[in-house]
Amino acid sequence: MPNIRPYADHASDVIARLNGMRTLRCPAPDCTLRIRYRAVTPDEARWLAALAQDHARHGSRK
Ligand SMILES: [Zn+2]
Repeated sequence: MPNIRPYADHASDVIARLNGMRTLRCPAPDCTLRIRYRAVTPDEARWLAALAQDHARHGSRK
């Protein structure tokens, strides 16, 4: 089976951007966490950003 996952991920990111969505990614190199959102309040956006960037809060192992 061909691995089309990287392209599909990139395409969905572009579509998300066109839809006015924001995508957050974890800075940890091995972490695949992504959080997508749109039309959230500033407080919710800040909470989501904090969650995405703090790997200890969503990672399954330290
Ligand atoms: Zn992470």
